[in-house]
Amino acid sequence: MSTQAAYKIIDHTFDVVVVGAGGSGLRATMGAAEAGLKTACITKVFPTRSHTVAAQGGIAASLGNNSPDHWTWHMFDTVKGSDWLGDQDAIEYLAREAPAAVYELEHAGVPFSRNADGTIYQRPFGGHMQNMGEGPPVQRTAAAADRTGHAMLHALYQQSLKYDADFFIEYFAIDLIMDGEGANKRCVGVIAMCLDDGTIHRFRAQAVVLATGGYGRCYFTATSAHTCTGDGGGMVLRAGLPLQDMEFVQFHPTGIYGAGVLITEGARGEGGYLTNSEGERFMERYAPSAKDLASRDVVSRSMALEMREGRGVGPEKDHIYLHLDHIDPTVLAQRLPGITESGKIFAGVDLTRQPLPVTPTVHYNMGGIPCNYHGEVVTIGPDGNPDHVVPGLFAVGEAACVSVHGANRLGSNSLIDLVVFGRATGHRLKSLLQPGAKQPQLAADSADFALGRLDHFRNANGGSPTAQVRADMQKTMQKHAAVFRDSALLAEGKALMDQANKRLQDVHVTDRSLIWNSDLIETLELDNLMAQAVVTMNSAENRKESRGAHAHEDFPERDDANWMKHTVAWFDGWGGTGGMGRIDYRPVHEYTLTGDIEYIKPKKRVY
Ligand SMILES: Cc1cc2nc3c(=O)[nH]c(=O)nc-3n(C[C@H](O)[C@H](O)[C@H](O)COP(=O)(O)OP(=O)(O)OC[C@H]3O[C@@H](n4cnc5c(N)ncnc54)[C@H](O)[C@@H]3O)c2cc1C
Repeated sequence: MSTQAAYKIIDHTFDVVVVGAGGSGLRATMGAAEAGLKTACITKVFPTRSHTVAAQGGIAASLGNNSPDHWTWHMFDTVKGSDWLGDQDAIEYLAREAPAAVYELEHAGVPFSRNADGTIYQRPFGGHMQNMGEGPPVQRTAAAADRTGHAMLHALYQQSLKYDADFFIEYFAIDLIMDGEGANKRCVGVIAMCLDDGTIHRFRAQAVVLATGGYGRCYFTATSAHTCTGDGGGMVLRAGLPLQDMEFVQFHPTGIYGAGVLITEGARGEGGYLTNSEGERFMERYAPSAKDLASRDVVSRSMALEMREGRGVGPEKDHIYLHLDHIDPTVLAQRLPGITESGKIFAGVDLTRQPLPVTPTVHYNMGGIPCNYHGEVVTIGPDGNPDHVVPGLFAVGEAACVSVHGANRLGSNSLIDLVVFGRATGHRLKSLLQPGAKQPQLAADSADFALGRLDHFRNANGGSPTAQVRADMQKTMQKHAAVFRDSALLAEGKALMDQANKRLQDVHVTDRSLIWNSDLIETLELDNLMAQAVVTMNSAENRKESRGAHAHEDFPERDDANWMKHTVAWFDGWGGTGGMGRIDYRPVHEYTLTGDIEYIKPKKRVY
């Protein structure tokens, strides 16, 4: 009996299938459905449990409600924040469209915090300045207290329902269905499993949108949810397509020490500051102008240096203090209620009286599925075209690399990326697709690859439990691809990741059923994480310079002559067979979208 015959397959045909119901997936779903396209949204967790729900601090847009602002200033800060690895056409699009996207959210029902005059309240955030980077800091981050993502997700879910999208909730997408080779390679659908009854669902579609979020969980300590396993990136690698700029992993300066739970940058935006064991506000030394509101890579590195030089706090000198105890408790209760609670629960600290122990924690993946500002997935074509579009495949949100964040993302620029590019993808789908257009029959073996993989892991009978293989990978990534990297550490990391990957061949899954088999799903997720961890480590070892979040101690300077280019990297195989594939490059777009602003030339990045 073929693998296909062993599993019950239910067929569906849609114009558009969106995988993921976080902020980006819901915005794309809403856009496609609004355009009259028959749209499905598949999600492994209930939509409002997606990681977007945890976003606290806010969403960046140059509304200018609390201080003067302009979209060109937002664009400048994002380019500088990206350390000139971001594509300036896409960044211009983001900064220009941001205010309209925030007003759209307001009208969709997001209960933003308000100023006395009724306008949306905006707070300062790291790296966001007035006057083309000259300063002072700008108040650009619109917020619904410290629960902005929560509010956004609820509003967007309600809107998607209004436009009649079909939701497949608690369905796990396993693999893409691809057709053709070389220049003709395109996506024609996706295979998913219903988690509660084990039925297999084959979705045929004119377009598939991957909105699966980041892959923070390939590290041991991360602020991201346990569901952030980069499943879309895994599917793309298995489809023989590359991922881009995976060496750039953001460490957020203020994860609660031990628990890894996030304390929003909004805490420093509202006046919080960091101190070392001597009680010194050390950021004044590293970033004299922006101080505690320098960009995240800069603050995280400064904290790591303080700890390395023996000025960390605690018996192990392995963390730093965040002070909010000087702020009026009524302001804390109003603007930062959620983190006041987190401080109590996860560190046993009363923020109004005591400093909070924090340490840099993995937070965001700048790298991901390469795409253009329409959301179309791109790769290097067989003719060498670096912007070759893969028909039928789109990517949005943290899973994607547009690239607007380049080598380092500014705080509050992800939420705006989700809605601006989710919306742009909706527009593109509307202009490219005919609602209800006839689709070709899928090949008879179209489910074989996905089901073969599923069946392999379901019956995996090796000697290593999934949790052990995962811990191996996470500890290696935590130690060898951290805030600071050097050649020896990365070379060793490469070898260790190769071993961790091979160990997947020996994985053991205990539960053989198809009903709520979390053991099996975690193993499929681990396979996705592993491929991306290997690509991250190899891409980091390959990049011989320091830029944004990639701080290479043997090459401490940014090297624009040789390295102002996007890494694109392939991975061969799955399940521990195969490993790292080839590495190539795409040029950074050194042009803007319109003539309204000139290309912002690289200069040294100081805050
Ligand atoms: C704690 C925290 C706080 C943050 N705060 C901010 C902030 O204040 N401002 C800001 O700009 N950014 C913030 N960020 C970053 C930002 O929230 C995320 O980058 C963003 O929410 C990611 O959204 P997304 O739509 O890409 O994916 P997610 O919200 O992660 O959603 C992923 C979706 O994909 C689905 N999915 C994944 N795999 C599969 C599969 N195999 N099959 C089916 N479905 C699948 C999931 O079910 C889920 O619906 C924060 C991040 C964290 C972790």
